[in-house]
Amino acid sequence: MSWKLNLYLKLTLIIMGAFTPFYLCLAEENDSRHWDYGGTWNPTRWSELKPEYALCQQGRNQSPINLVPHNAKPISVSWEFKYRSIPVAILNNGHTIEIEFKPGSYLLIDGNEYELQQLHFHTPSEHTVMGKASAGELHLVHKTRDGKTAVLLVFLIEGKYNRVLGTLREYIPREKGENQIKGVGLDVNELLPAQRDSYYHYTGSLTTPPCTEGVNWYVMTAPIEVSSEQIENFRQIYQVNARPIQPLNGRVIYFKE
Ligand SMILES: [Zn+2]
Repeated sequence: MSWKLNLYLKLTLIIMGAFTPFYLCLAEENDSRHWDYGGTWNPTRWSELKPEYALCQQGRNQSPINLVPHNAKPISVSWEFKYRSIPVAILNNGHTIEIEFKPGSYLLIDGNEYELQQLHFHTPSEHTVMGKASAGELHLVHKTRDGKTAVLLVFLIEGKYNRVLGTLREYIPREKGENQIKGVGLDVNELLPAQRDSYYHYTGSLTTPPCTEGVNWYVMTAPIEVSSEQIENFRQIYQVNARPIQPLNGRVIYFKE
């Protein structure tokens, strides 16, 4: 080996050695960049995190929105709730508490079968009604067989202790990434308000990255009550997990009184 080649190899090794930790650092840095509701990766910067999150910034049909009944157009759809009490998994995914359902629970909207996949919580509410937020909101996420998404939204207001949520409390994983599958039965019907024939409807997006559009939102006018202690319990895990209001951009809001 010539002394030149030898020197070259040595220099290459030295340079690589000097830079390798730097590259490893960068890789680690990238891995730890997660979207959040505050701090560096708050909702105004979600789109900078990944190209797949571009809609969070560029989308014209984003959620949540402010709902205003007097500008809304009338609508009437037929509902049929075919929710069954089935075993669920309860997951703390780092952004919310999510309850996952086994197949077999359906919401029929005008005869179209939307299968219930999961429900999760936001506090305070993401949507507002005439500018007013509630203590929280519940998202029941459904999908059709051909991939259409419908989210049924139920507002949470402070009031009576909610027995159904109360039974879930002991199963709620407090640490991020924890997943509990205990065969807990949950009758979703009991999480819906008794009055179900007044609602808003509009087309929007997921309220979390990747902010996918084409989501059919059905927002129940009647809220369900939860006690201040139950709200506080959730806030001890997630203080705030609500995306700010997004512009309507000429979309039509439908309202059934
Ligand atoms: Zn949600």
